[in-house]
Amino acid sequence: MSSLPSSVDIAIIGAGAAGLGAAHALRDSGLSFIVLEARNRVGGRGYTIQAAPDVVFDVGCGWLHSADRNTFVGIANELNFEINKDLPPWRDRAVGKAFPQDERAEFIHTLDGFFDRVEEAAKSGRDAPADTLLEPGNRWNPMIDAISTYINGTELDRVSILDFDAYEDTNLNWRVRRGYGALMAAYGASLPVAFDCAVTLIDRSTKRLRIETSQGTLAADKVIITVPTNMIADEAIRFHPALPEKVDAAAQLPLGLADKVVLALADAEALPKEGNLRGATMRTEMGTYHLRPFGQPCIEGFFGGRFARSLEDAGDGAIAAHSIDEIASFLGNDIRRKLKPLKESRWAHDPFARGSYSHALPGHSGKRAVLAAPVDGRLFFAGEATSPNFFTTAHGARDSGERAAKEVLTAAALKA
Ligand SMILES: Cc1cc2nc3c(=O)[nH]c(=O)nc-3n(C[C@H](O)[C@H](O)[C@H](O)COP(=O)(O)OP(=O)(O)OC[C@H]3O[C@@H](n4cnc5c(N)ncnc54)[C@H](O)[C@@H]3O)c2cc1C
Repeated sequence: MSSLPSSVDIAIIGAGAAGLGAAHALRDSGLSFIVLEARNRVGGRGYTIQAAPDVVFDVGCGWLHSADRNTFVGIANELNFEINKDLPPWRDRAVGKAFPQDERAEFIHTLDGFFDRVEEAAKSGRDAPADTLLEPGNRWNPMIDAISTYINGTELDRVSILDFDAYEDTNLNWRVRRGYGALMAAYGASLPVAFDCAVTLIDRSTKRLRIETSQGTLAADKVIITVPTNMIADEAIRFHPALPEKVDAAAQLPLGLADKVVLALADAEALPKEGNLRGATMRTEMGTYHLRPFGQPCIEGFFGGRFARSLEDAGDGAIAAHSIDEIASFLGNDIRRKLKPLKESRWAHDPFARGSYSHALPGHSGKRAVLAAPVDGRLFFAGEATSPNFFTTAHGARDSGERAAKEVLTAAALKA
């Protein structure tokens, strides 16, 4: 823990994956820097908790997506964090009778057809809402929309086709046994971070930047801003003079919503490890359930989009209560007495996230580059939303921080 200095060469705002990536890249630069973090921990949207003595739970990110290009894999190896390469459960392994295998195969086939149409449509370079690529009347459409709420945090009517297509997925998904958030905490452990330090204003009208925080004011030559887009769009952090193009870009890249719940599971051996449970509900308002991740005695549920929002708005415990009802509808009422809520996320209500991950609204896929662009050689921008192809992810965020730090070093070298 660092106290707030009165002056640094570089201030990094936010100690999530992006801020930590930026800080590591500045470590040997000879420049002084500090990470200003509103929370009392590092990791941001990466956060692991011990939900029960035998249950480790990632409240935010859990999967090392595109694992063969994911820079957190090398970091995990360096820090001796065991990596688990078991296949994710979300495509093939069905449990129970709620989603019979032949139905599931038809659904996956229809979903893949939709993804193919996105790729084809993007080649034209013309943008439109992604729901225009659904086959009219196809019975699986509501559930394809549910998948969008998991991937994009929002329904397809709010997703840009070009942005959807720009996302790179190498289809290799690994996990960190001790938790992705725990890995981030270890990655950030030796860095200078001022905690409980919420930035409210970046004054760029003066020769040196003046940064107002909840812990006082500091001066910096340069700043790397890594906060979630909603913080910029809502002007929770303000610029003086104002930067309307940044506020606009952030507003067109809003955070969608994904929420997770973990339920303790008694008599866990009765259900398979690493199974997937969901129903052919034909609804967008549905959860998807991961049974016994890492063999732990628990079930994790995942919700997205407007449905997740409505569950959050219904109050604490609503996600867990809904999960138990839905699981009972698939497996029978006897399961109820075996399930106990341990923890649920509330990312939309989290004051320093205000959502889960970013999507570009239709017509605005170019806004990621607008948000990422430096201003005056003094303000630099990172965070998952600025990643050109790995947006929404932790590794995309980390790499964007490193990119911003390199821009800072180039600008500093030019000035010297
Ligand atoms: C439920 C859920 C599941 C996810 N699953 C995955 C997954 O499986 N794989 C994956 O790769 N990604 C996943 N993600 C996304 C991933 O967690 C994020 O993309 C990534 O962690 C974002 O990192 P970041 O540094 O850009 O932002 P953040 O992690 O949000 O970091 C920004 C930091 O800025 C701080 N901050 C905000 N406002 C201020 C302020 N005014 N002053 C100072 N500090 C401030 C915040 O507290 C935060 O620590 C998931 C996210 C959620 C919510």
